[in-house]
Amino acid sequence: MFNPTEIIFAVTTACNLHCPHCFVNREPNNLSADEAIQFLESVHNSTNSSIEKVGFSGGEPFLTIPFLCDVIKASIDMDFMFDRIMTNGDWWKNEDDLKTSLQRVYDAGYDGKIGLSYDNFHGQNEDRIVTFIKNVWEIFGTDALEIQSVNSTSTLPSISKKLKSLSERLNLGYEENISDSGRGIASLSDEGHFIPAYIQTESYQADDPRAFRDSTWFREDYCESMGQLLFIHATGDIAPCCGFANESQPLLIGKVTDTFDAVLEKAGRNRMVKICYEEGLSKQATLLKKKGKLPGKTSDACTLCDLLCRQGGMERP
Ligand code: SF4
Ligand code: SF4
Repeated sequence: MFNPTEIIFAVTTACNLHCPHCFVNREPNNLSADEAIQFLESVHNSTNSSIEKVGFSGGEPFLTIPFLCDVIKASIDMDFMFDRIMTNGDWWKNEDDLKTSLQRVYDAGYDGKIGLSYDNFHGQNEDRIVTFIKNVWEIFGTDALEIQSVNSTSTLPSISKKLKSLSERLNLGYEENISDSGRGIASLSDEGHFIPAYIQTESYQADDPRAFRDSTWFREDYCESMGQLLFIHATGDIAPCCGFANESQPLLIGKVTDTFDAVLEKAGRNRMVKICYEEGLSKQATLLKKKGKLPGKTSDACTLCDLLCRQGGMERP
């Protein structure tokens, strides 16, 4: 069942980087802090809500610090906890700008994680990322940072080399456990510092020639790993997850100007939400295969979800 426990505000579509694997719609859009707070109030006042946490994504959320500070303060007033602010860590002009910006977010009361997207696709300068991490440690604490990396199974160098190099620059030890599929976890640590790094492989949209070329199917998890949340796009559209197909029209379940109860009600009537959270996407894969409509296997549930959204209709037995 779809029962979201978190809200992620994708604060803006603006970003200082241009990563080749980015799925963010780059038309200029910014969420309004007033509308975001109004939506949070409707969550807070609803008797149907299981929402406990608030997180921030983008675009690059640190390009909209006034929004972050306003929504952080309102979230604290309403007793929400924080999950993470996802950032590329490379948005600041100079170290003074970096320190001031981080301090403003800290002073607003933010005590969640700083999630750093760091890999070969983002291609940040290592010196600047070392500076970013040291300043995060200084202001938020030495366990406040975590890394999310996308590994490439094709052309780019492996993520291990990049993470190992970063750990050496930070004088930290390095351990990793990465499977043959390229997914896994690493840790950069010493006695006083700990940075977990969560490693995923690149996702492919359904029309990408590299999609549906896997030797195994995804594990059905009813979107527990990427879902059970309300992802509020910078356009104000609301999706039921942070999977890459979450800008697809068939997955949208409301607007930030709706009430939380109205969004939940729309989600209850949404066919894609029912498939992803109740029936299971693997059932759709079986139906599509029987009808000869599957181009191959994918180990990424969101790729199949994207295919279904593009087809605009779902298979029925
Ligand atoms: S940092 Fe994130 S939002 Fe910006 S281009 Fe890269 S993937 Fe897209
Ligand atoms: S499979 Fe679909 S609903 Fe589930 S996380 Fe991926 S995009 Fe979202």
